[in-house]
Amino acid sequence: MPDSPAASSSYLIKLGELTLKGENRGAFEHVLKRNIRAMLKGTGAQLVSTDGRYFISFNSASGDVSQDVDASEKIAFALDRLFGIAGWAKTRFCEKSIAAVCAECIAEAGDLLANGVKTFKVEARRTDKRFPLDSYGIMAAAGEAVLAAIPALTVDVHKPEAVITVEIREKAYIYGNAHKGLRGLPVGTAGRGLLLLSGGIDSPVAGFLMAGRGMSIDVVHFHAYPYTSKEARDKVVRLAEALGRYTLGVRLHIVGFTKVQMRIKEAAPPAWTTILLRMAMMEAAESIARQHEYACLISGESLSQVASQTIENIRCTESRTTLPILRPLIGMDKESITRIAEKIGTYEISILPYEDCCVLFSPKHPALRGSVGEAAAYYERLELSALIEDAVREREVEKCSFVKR
Ligand code: ATP
Ligand code: MG
Repeated sequence: MPDSPAASSSYLIKLGELTLKGENRGAFEHVLKRNIRAMLKGTGAQLVSTDGRYFISFNSASGDVSQDVDASEKIAFALDRLFGIAGWAKTRFCEKSIAAVCAECIAEAGDLLANGVKTFKVEARRTDKRFPLDSYGIMAAAGEAVLAAIPALTVDVHKPEAVITVEIREKAYIYGNAHKGLRGLPVGTAGRGLLLLSGGIDSPVAGFLMAGRGMSIDVVHFHAYPYTSKEARDKVVRLAEALGRYTLGVRLHIVGFTKVQMRIKEAAPPAWTTILLRMAMMEAAESIARQHEYACLISGESLSQVASQTIENIRCTESRTTLPILRPLIGMDKESITRIAEKIGTYEISILPYEDCCVLFSPKHPALRGSVGEAAAYYERLELSALIEDAVREREVEKCSFVKR
C-alpha cells in the first residue's frame, strides 16, 4: 500500500505478443526487462515481475512532489515508446478486502472526474478465487460505491468515457483508463539492421516498423555538403534521435557523398542518375553493414511512390548488394505512412524544409523501367568503388541517446 500517493506510485504493464512464445518466451522477457530498466534509468523506478505481469514501482525518497511529477512523466514517456507490451496503467493497489477495493475505486473515480470524465464502468478480473466476490460481484459493489460517493458520475456500460479495472491477484490492483502499448516485440530480439535514413517522411517510419518486430536499428545518412546544408544534417540528427526513443538510441553514420554524386552527374545519362545514386548508396550501406555486422539494410521505399521505386528500378537499386533489404513500407500508401509518422513524432521534423541530396541531383525525366543489365553497365563505367570506399572510411559516427531531456 503506498504511504502517500504523492511519494509513491505503481504502474502495471501487460505483456504483448511475446506471451505467444513457447520455449523462447524467457529469452524475449529477458530482453524486455533489460529494455525497461534501460529506459527507466535515472527515474528511481524499480521493475518487479510476478506471474506474467510486470510492475514498476516508484518511491521518491525525498517525498518531493515536483520530482515525482518529473519521474511520472519520464515513466509515461518511456512506456509509451516501449515495444513488446500490450498496455500499461498507473495503478493503485491495496489489501484484498471489498472495503479497501471500493475505497480505491472511489479515489480513482475522483481523479477521473477531476480530468473531466463523466461516465464510467467498472471491470473486474479475479485470479484469486478465494476472494469473497466473483468478477460480477466486484463490478457491482465497486460501481455502487463510486456512484454513492461521487454523484456527478454516471455508469455507461456501452460507451463509458473511462473504465475502472479491478484485478484481484496477490494484491488488489485498481486502475483507470489503461494506455495502449505499442505491442510488437522487444527491440533487441531480432538482430540488428542498418536503416537508410533520408530527411523525408518515409524512412523513419520504416525504421520504427522494423524496431516493432524486435530489430535493433542503427542508421546511415548520405549528404552532399555543401550542396546540402548544415540544417539538413541537423534535421537528420533530430530524426535519428526521435526514432531512437523507440530503439534505445541509435548510432548514426553520416556519409559525405558529394564526390560520388558529382561523378554520377558528370558521367551518367541524366535519366539514370537517381537509380545509379541509389545503387551507390546501397553499396556504401552494405560496406558499413559488413563492418558492424548488421544483418540487413532497411529502406523506406514504397512501390511506385516515385519513379525510383517502380519494381524495375527497385531491382536495379538492389542489384549490387547481397544483404537482405527490408522494405516495410512497400505495400503502404502515403497517407498510412504519414499517419504513423505523426503518431511517432517524426512527421513534424520530416516536413521541415531541407534539400535532400537526391532531389538536388534528380533528373527532370527519370528512367521509369531500368533494366538490371543497363544499370550494371552504366554503374561499372563510373568506377565508383574507390570514391565509395573513401566516403565510408571518412564517415562521421554519432551516438544518439534516447533519454528524455
Ligand atoms: P523518404 O521519405 O524516406 O525520404 P522518399 O519517398 O523521399 O522517402 P526516396 O527519396 O526515393 O523516397 O528514397 C527512398 C529511400 O532511399 C528512402 O526511404 C531511404 O531509405 C533511402 N534514402 C534516400 N535518400 C537518402 C539519403 N540521403 N540518405 C540515406 N538514405 C536515403
Ligand atoms: Mg527522400
